[in-house]
Amino acid sequence: MFVTRFAPSPTGRLHKGHAFSALTAWRAAKDAGGRFLLRIEDIDPTRCRPEFEVGIFEDLAWLGLDWETSVRRQSDHLTDYAAVVETLDRHGLLYRCFRTRKEILDAIGDAPHGPAEAARPGPHPVEEEARLLAEGRPFAWRLSLDRAREALGGAAWDGLKFIEEGLGPDGETGRIKVRPETAGDVVLARKDAGTAYHLAVTHDDALQKVSHVIRGQDLFEATHIQRLIQALMGWPAPVYRHHRLLAGPDGRRYAKRDRSVTLAELRAGGLTPDRLRAELTP
Ligand code: GLU
Repeated sequence: MFVTRFAPSPTGRLHKGHAFSALTAWRAAKDAGGRFLLRIEDIDPTRCRPEFEVGIFEDLAWLGLDWETSVRRQSDHLTDYAAVVETLDRHGLLYRCFRTRKEILDAIGDAPHGPAEAARPGPHPVEEEARLLAEGRPFAWRLSLDRAREALGGAAWDGLKFIEEGLGPDGETGRIKVRPETAGDVVLARKDAGTAYHLAVTHDDALQKVSHVIRGQDLFEATHIQRLIQALMGWPAPVYRHHRLLAGPDGRRYAKRDRSVTLAELRAGGLTPDRLRAELTP
């Protein structure tokens, strides 16, 4: 069964780039006679707001999309993600990281062999970790690439691939060799959220039996680490279809942080869903 999803984070109002992504996934599901899911990825307590979630429903309905009514909201399922962290920790694949964001960024600036090295800070010495724990200092859980490699075995590690049916930013397509080291020892549970994007997204894609992940090329690189998590957890690997990023009139891509014109504003200005859908063809 073909199952795909649109998985926005409610950190702002949707813009044309989101509309393009949602439409691309929705059309693919219709063409395949498959299922289209909407998932609210709201695990970031500092940036997600309920009114933006309401906005997502409003904007997608206006655009004329339909989706299955059991919409998964990630913040309602934090215990699921905690259970994955526990499993990975039980297998010795994680380590606690008490460093602050600033310490990690400073280390990246100083790293002689580039950012990838600093993105693997490694476990704290045992006594230091015990002291920091006793002081009640908050920590994140990081995935140890060294231990992940050992757990999978060299042959499985070297042979790990994902299928790209779309295009990566450099035209990558077909069977792509996984390079988890590009991401470093990623954080799988943030200090403030108890989980993190890569873990929640792979867990939910597996749980919801997503067969095709259709999303923007800006997430192509994330697939490397996500495929590794799938292998470590024994989850199936979906097929990936990364799509081009929509460029605005100035040739730059739409992004929330640029305050790109939102769908709500375009709607208020008289844009019709039909016109927008015609404009957003693959
Ligand atoms: N929630 C992510 C975002 O809004 C997308 C996750 C995904 O499609 O894998 O950027």
